[in-house]
Amino acid sequence: MAIVVSERECFGCALCVLSCPEDAIKITSSFIVEIDEEKCTECLECLYYCPVDALTEA
Ligand code: SF4
Ligand code: SF4
Repeated sequence: MAIVVSERECFGCALCVLSCPEDAIKITSSFIVEIDEEKCTECLECLYYCPVDALTEA
């Protein structure tokens, strides 16, 4: 499994970045959210923090 970001929903608020205990989420200069699958433990914390449900488990 992996965490997937909907670029259509995401507006770059960075709450997911702050929520991640593994520092696995980055926002690029063009406001694209990137998940580092090597670091991600699939704790799902970021899913709860995203205000627009842009993150899903796939
Ligand atoms: S599932 Fe957990 S470890 Fe993975 S990106 Fe989200 S907050 Fe970080
Ligand atoms: S919390 Fe949601 S809307 Fe905010 S940057 Fe992360 S994925 Fe995008």
